[in-house]
Amino acid sequence: MLLDGKTLSLKLKEELRENLNFINEKLKLVVISIGDDEASKVYINKKRLLASELGIEFLEIHYDNVTESDIIEKIISLNNDSSVTSIMVQLPLPKYLNEKRILNTINPFKDADGLSAMNLGKLVMNEDGIIPCTPKGIVKLLNEYNISLKGKNVVIVGRSNIVGKPLFNLLLNLDATVTICHSKTKNLGNYTKKADILIVATGVSKLIKKEHIKDGVIIVDVGINREDGKIVGDVDFNDVSDKVSYITPVPGGVGPLTVIMLMTNVLECYKKQNKM
Ligand code: NAD
Repeated sequence: MLLDGKTLSLKLKEELRENLNFINEKLKLVVISIGDDEASKVYINKKRLLASELGIEFLEIHYDNVTESDIIEKIISLNNDSSVTSIMVQLPLPKYLNEKRILNTINPFKDADGLSAMNLGKLVMNEDGIIPCTPKGIVKLLNEYNISLKGKNVVIVGRSNIVGKPLFNLLLNLDATVTICHSKTKNLGNYTKKADILIVATGVSKLIKKEHIKDGVIIVDVGINREDGKIVGDVDFNDVSDKVSYITPVPGGVGPLTVIMLMTNVLECYKKQNKM
C-alpha cells in the first residue's frame, strides 16, 4: 500500500490555512540562496508557490557570489528585523562557505528549517524546539496511516544533519528502537533486514532491493535522484513492492511533506516569538 504524501500534504495545507486565519499579521519567510544549484531552484520555487497559496509573504535573497561575513551580516539584520518571521538558508551551500557557522547565526526562534545547533540540541534533549522539516514530515506520514513507532525496530540509512540525525532523535523520542546506518556500515543488509520500518536517505538511487528487507516491512524512501530525466528514490520500488506492507512513492511521498512542514514551522516560529 502506498504512503501517499501528496494527498496528506494537501490536507495539511488546509489545516495550516485555517490556523493561519487566527493570526492577524502577515507572516514572512526569507530564503537565502547562494550559487546556481539547479535542484535548489526547483525547491525554492515550490516553497514560493506554497507560501503564496497560504498568504505567507516570501522573499528570496539570492547571491551569485558572496563572502561568509556578508551572509552572516545579512542574517543578523534579518534576525533584528521585526517584519521577518522566519529565515532559512537553502542547502547545499557552495563549498567555500561554513554551513554550521551560517546556520548557527539564525535566531533559533526564526529558524524555519530547525537546523541551528540550538534547535537540534533541543531535539536531542527532547525539548520543545523547531523540528527539521523532512523528519517532521515523515512522522506525520506514519501517524496518518496509524503506524505506531513505539517499540518498533526502525532502521535509518543515511546520517546527514538534515535528515538522518534529526530523524534518529525524533524517533527515539517517540519510543522507537532506532538504528542508523551510513556509507561506512559493513553488511548493510544485516541491519536493514531487521527493520519493521526502513527509512532511506542516501542519494544513491535504487540502493535498497528485495534482498535487503524482510516481508511486510514499511519503507519510507526519502531519496530524490534524477535518472534519465525521471525522479527515482533510493529504493528499487518495483523490486521491493511485492514484499512491503507500505511504501512511499517517489515522487509524491516525503517531498511534498517537507515543503508543507516548512510552512508549518514558519507559524511555529511566529508562535514562539509571541509566546503563544
Ligand atoms: P547527504 O549526502 O547529506 O547524506 C547521505 C547519507 O547517506 C550519508 O550519511 C552517507 O553516509 C549515507 N550513504 C551514502 N551512500 C551510502 C551507501 N551506499 N550505504 C549506506 N549509506 C550511504 O544527503 P541528504 O541531504 O541526507 O539527502 C539524502 C537523499 O534524500 C538525497 O537524495 C536528497 O535529495 C534526498 N532528500 C529528500 C528530501 C525530501 O524532502 N524528500 C529532503 C532532503 C533530502
